[in-house]
Amino acid sequence: MSNRILVCGAGGFIGGHLIADLRRQGAKNLRAVDQKPLSDWYQRFDDVENLQLDLSRLDACEQATTDCGAVYNLAADMGGMGFIELNKCLCMLTVLINTHLLMASKKAGVKRFFFSSSACVYNADKQRDPNVTALKEEDAYPALPEDGYGWEKLFSERMCRHFREDFGIQTRVARYHNVYGPNGTYDGGREKAPAAICRKVIQAKLSGKHEIEIWGSGQQTRSFMYIDDCLKGTQMLLNSDFIEPINIGSSELVSINQLVDLAEEIAGIKLKRNYNLSAPKGVNGRNSDNTLIQKVFGWEPSTKLRDGLEITYRWIHDEMTKGGVSVVNRA
Ligand code: NAD
Repeated sequence: MSNRILVCGAGGFIGGHLIADLRRQGAKNLRAVDQKPLSDWYQRFDDVENLQLDLSRLDACEQATTDCGAVYNLAADMGGMGFIELNKCLCMLTVLINTHLLMASKKAGVKRFFFSSSACVYNADKQRDPNVTALKEEDAYPALPEDGYGWEKLFSERMCRHFREDFGIQTRVARYHNVYGPNGTYDGGREKAPAAICRKVIQAKLSGKHEIEIWGSGQQTRSFMYIDDCLKGTQMLLNSDFIEPINIGSSELVSINQLVDLAEEIAGIKLKRNYNLSAPKGVNGRNSDNTLIQKVFGWEPSTKLRDGLEITYRWIHDEMTKGGVSVVNRA
């Protein structure tokens, strides 16, 4: 069996960190694929085989999976709430990436296949109250996922299941709950809440205009997982015998207002809060129930939000002020 590992979506946030982590562990035979031009990848390494391919195409997936023993699929057309609420068709079209990658993996004789699903698969009725009961894996059914993005993830989860049952590819499915950290998107419309809040706080600090716009009432609750925990859980799952979809997320629940409190504390400022009630805000409350991951792996994501956010804040700050040029006016 080939020991080559393919990381799809390697030019993005999680895929880039995964390639970096596999490399750190001494993996030699790595292939990194993304549709973005190589110059736009968040992390890129010259000792890795880097390919720019559109994985929505079957021929590209066949090229990418050739001679691979394991595939991590982190490629998706996605973003934060602002993106997925307004681009449901693009989100659904990611089904082409997952389907073609599975078909190509079967042809190439891939043994293990990781799929990055999402907490957006969970039934919306279970997420109406900000005082949430954390989501257990069985709460995905009966199905009422996030329109667009969540439906695609749920469908692709099932596709993974059937490729395993019918064709023997060892598929593993993680339901990530909001992942954050450095080397990710923090502006442009696809950014997620932690990066967006850091950017807005930094912009306010640099510009001297001490105000911040918050989407929704700020009372909606979420949990946020630091990237290091995500990488650990991801690799643990792919290399395990556990075959059902499983939460990989933090269970430290905070409101968006509390997230802003933390970013303000790191920045050392207090801002006037303007609530935009017509902006996309997602479900009212969502948290990860980690009973199953604890039971299966004796482990759960545990990086404190305050610690991970500080590292993320510093990275975004450095990016925005690179070379002494402040980019506070970027969209
Ligand atoms: P990201 O947007 O930073 O990375 C995704 C990458 O996929 C991008 O670099 C993009 O260029 C690439 N891509 C998109 N279409 C492609 C195509 N046709 N061919 C090749 N590459 C293509 O996102 P991320 O945060 O790194 O997320 C990785 C995975 O984890 C995604 O499947 C996402 O749905 C899932 N996920 C992420 C989070 C999170 O909070 N970041 C939460 C739940 C699930």
